[in-house]
Amino acid sequence: MSPDQTAARDAGAPSASLLERIEPVEGGRAMHDPATGELVGRAPEAAVEDLDAAVARAVAAQPGWAAAGDDVRRRAMHAAADAIEARAEELADLLSREQGKPLNGPNARFEVGACAAWLRATAEFSVEPEVIVDDGTDHAELHHRPLGVVGAIGPWNWPMMISVWQIAPSLRMGNTVVIKPSGYTPLSVLALVEVLNSVLPEGVLLAVPGRGEVGARLSRHPDVAKIMFTGSTETGRTIVKAAGDTLKRLTMELGGNDAGIVLDDADPQAIAEDIFWGAFINTGQTCAAMKRLYVPDSLYDQVCESLLEVAKNAPMGVGREEQNVLGPLQNAVQRDIVVRLVDEAKAAGARVLIGGEHDPEAPGFFYPTTLVADVDPQNPLVIEEQFGPALPIIRYSDLDEAIEQANALEVGLGSSVWSADVDRAREVAARLEAGTTWINKHGAVDPRMPFGGAKQSGYGLEFGEHGLKEVSQPHLISW
Ligand code: NAD
Repeated sequence: MSPDQTAARDAGAPSASLLERIEPVEGGRAMHDPATGELVGRAPEAAVEDLDAAVARAVAAQPGWAAAGDDVRRRAMHAAADAIEARAEELADLLSREQGKPLNGPNARFEVGACAAWLRATAEFSVEPEVIVDDGTDHAELHHRPLGVVGAIGPWNWPMMISVWQIAPSLRMGNTVVIKPSGYTPLSVLALVEVLNSVLPEGVLLAVPGRGEVGARLSRHPDVAKIMFTGSTETGRTIVKAAGDTLKRLTMELGGNDAGIVLDDADPQAIAEDIFWGAFINTGQTCAAMKRLYVPDSLYDQVCESLLEVAKNAPMGVGREEQNVLGPLQNAVQRDIVVRLVDEAKAAGARVLIGGEHDPEAPGFFYPTTLVADVDPQNPLVIEEQFGPALPIIRYSDLDEAIEQANALEVGLGSSVWSADVDRAREVAARLEAGTTWINKHGAVDPRMPFGGAKQSGYGLEFGEHGLKEVSQPHLISW
């Protein structure tokens, strides 16, 4: 942010609302509630020169932060979590209004809670020097040093939580961070950074809100050692190319099209609720949500009926109305993708169990909860990422064929197997091409468990000790 853009923040009394502290004095880009169209606030927009200035400040702050030591950084993680918890309701309210997700269900309050939980978990892991060889003749120890400045680029679906996934391990390992939020959800990330900076030293975490060209500069900047990127596979490819000139380290968390496979011994009623939320968490706008469900002939009708019952009882509406657990799509582009894919499935003869009709006159970017049965495995609703509240349910009679179809796409983020027999499910899991396979759950990310993609869903791991190593430079010392 440029100096005049941060004037409001500097003028803000400690009691000022987060929004008052981040909005520019004048100008800025109007952000609207995707559910109602109401003005949420005005987001500052940085230029490429602001990004350069932020990187320079992060470069200057990094040696001091690295020298502060691991204990200081560990305590900073807990202090940051405390600061988030102290303003949790204000953060959740802003997130709900800007992103659209309801306060309740696995949505805004859940996301803010996850930010604090991930910070605390990141404090508890550590990377100790490792003795690699000690045979009386040769000695070798592997240390992990900070990389320098980490650039963080994130999406609009879980803007606060994914920012913490990028910021927390980077800071913990002694790096400083320059973060560029998505242009759809800048206020949420700026508010989060404002809260984190109330406890972090000057210069270790800087947010630069701006459009794609700011992100493009960050991924080319010679003083940025690593990019942590979460977003679409298409943008990921652009960043990989841009980062090539300076050989930046990269963590690429990209798009997915996760398959869930129900085995013929599963109990349809027992699994319905977990399958539903595995697919519809954040109204389907989740990288590792289930985006296609394969069900055997013998259970097909029962699984469809059980899912329909859950779907009928999950209210969708404006985020701040407490009863709602599903919300709008965050933006019109994403809503139109869902409209197109469901329309194509209907035109090809698929059977809509619920939803499937979009009212273009209705306010907000809503699309109803939609279950689509008897859809062809090659239909675009199955093979493209819908990223919204529409689940195709594909019938199968041969498990080998279902596994083959699950593996047929070029992406492989998550996947799941549903069965009464965990050993049988594990055998199927071993045959799936994905970064994670869950059994009798889907999308259950956990700060203790490394998370990352297979194939074109990206590379690199987040979370736990694996995640800390990804934001460090291995350094072998041998004598
Ligand atoms: P996106 O790729 O459109 O945008 C992501 C970010 O990249 C934004 O901040 C955007 O401003 C920035 N950007 C755009 N062009 C750029 C460029 N040339 N250089 C640098 N940065 C640039 O993705 P999105 O629409 O915000 O997010 C949805 C996608 O993200 C889905 O495909 C989803 O599956 C994926 N996603 C993946 C994960 C994961 O962990 N694997 C998590 C969440 C979302």
